[in-house]
Amino acid sequence: MKLEFLGAAHEVTGSCTLLEAAGKKILIDCGMEQGADIYENCALPILPSDVDAVLLTHAHIDHSGKLPLLSAQGFRGNIYATEATGRLCSIMLRDSAHIQEQEALWRNKKAQRSGEAGYQPLYTVEDAVQTMELFVQCKYHEVYPIADGISVRFLDAGHLLGSSSIEITVKEGEKQEILLFSGDLGNRNRPLIRDPELPKRADSVIIESTYGNRLHGPRKDYIGQLAEILQETFDRGGNVVIPSFAVGRTQEFLYLLREIKEKGLLTGHDGFPVFVDSPLAAEATKIYFDDLTDYYDEEMLALLRQGINILEFDGLEISQTTAESMAINEDKRPKVILSASGMCEAGRIRHHLKYNLWRADSTILFVGYQAEGTMGRILQDGATTVRLFGEPVQVRARIATMDGISGHADQKIMLEWLENLEKPPKMVYVNHGQDTVCDEFAAVISAKLSYPACAPYNGGIYDVESGECLREGNRQRLVKKSLVKTRRSASYERLVRAGERLNALIEESKGISNKELAKLADGLERLMADWMEY
Ligand SMILES: [Zn+2]
Ligand SMILES: [Zn+2]
Repeated sequence: MKLEFLGAAHEVTGSCTLLEAAGKKILIDCGMEQGADIYENCALPILPSDVDAVLLTHAHIDHSGKLPLLSAQGFRGNIYATEATGRLCSIMLRDSAHIQEQEALWRNKKAQRSGEAGYQPLYTVEDAVQTMELFVQCKYHEVYPIADGISVRFLDAGHLLGSSSIEITVKEGEKQEILLFSGDLGNRNRPLIRDPELPKRADSVIIESTYGNRLHGPRKDYIGQLAEILQETFDRGGNVVIPSFAVGRTQEFLYLLREIKEKGLLTGHDGFPVFVDSPLAAEATKIYFDDLTDYYDEEMLALLRQGINILEFDGLEISQTTAESMAINEDKRPKVILSASGMCEAGRIRHHLKYNLWRADSTILFVGYQAEGTMGRILQDGATTVRLFGEPVQVRARIATMDGISGHADQKIMLEWLENLEKPPKMVYVNHGQDTVCDEFAAVISAKLSYPACAPYNGGIYDVESGECLREGNRQRLVKKSLVKTRRSASYERLVRAGERLNALIEESKGISNKELAKLADGLERLMADWMEY
């Protein structure tokens, strides 16, 4: 019985783990890497057609995003997930496929001009649609036998509608092992969904560690915090731009914004407009308020019982088309704009940043985790200028963060979750956290709970019964740190000298015609746009 870590090891995104047990090969999550690639994910060490089943913890793309690729490459087994996860995947995987297709189209246009070979999308909308046929709906708490000797049970992880921790029971002859995958664990007291459920039994635990080194502090008054930011920004005449995951976070914020309006918490801005600018968010919102009542917390159920639909508050406008999206920036009223992607890596949010970052009266409000290397993190870290669509944009807007609203459990909640186990597990494997955070959290688990814990690297293989490491993973970092080393290389020195000559050329150009100056500036802007993402 072996566990092999293939992704989100010493990294936050790209979750994928292979369990080989009872003669079967089971994948737990099959996610896509997002943001900067710090460590290379391992290629699947077996053929996709040899994977017997996939267990999916939740719909987020960093856990589900490579499923259409797996099925396009020959996987024909079942994908076990909760009903809500399946419903959300049906829109999110299609959306992800659409992005892949657009990207391929764009690259191919570029390739045509330069005569390079064509570029294939990672997968197509068709692949995503076919993947959905492999989904098998599971309810929380029921036991599902998925193969001879293997059964699974889903627990509510409180992170996203339908999100789960998955308990896997394996019987090999007389031996029985229970493995528990935490999935992404939610924070407590979030809008709409329930708190993460505490597990009871596990011989081995695989736990996330996004906030493994942080405490969220006492419960925050989300509505009060948000109302204050809106009041202050609207009084200045600015907009509040909220980069937000289209699925989950956007719906939570619609809930909070409806409450603010309902309770009349703003002075002088009655009926302020709220724009949801993301076709995916619009679709997801429909699913949220369809008939998934099994998944809500008490407050939300009470609203539903009163017949209140948070989709229908005064001032809410949902834009589907590009024209509708562009019209938002023509609207001069102070407003809230919720748009994706949540880490500002792609999507319509980048247009809203372009229109609002330079405005000192606007606020950019971060409401979710911003991974290292993403535009969101760069802004949070205090960048004074960023590049959007090849142009430099000054950052004059207020950059604010609502921390407590995080979708992830903090260190305290995760330790309590682990501590609830009836007996100490043989090993806790820590993944889904930033490089040093994985190690830190593993050390905290050992110190505070006296459970054996480790933080595997991609490619690491472990014997489930003993917890022994059979093969070390790959510790080679891909990004940034290696850049620092190459800075001293001959090529880098050459680049520095070329830069100096460019500066000299600019100095000497003072006398030439405006037309020529504009031509040079255009050429340089184009060159920089090709080389700089931000
Ligand atoms: Zn997640
Ligand atoms: Zn995740």
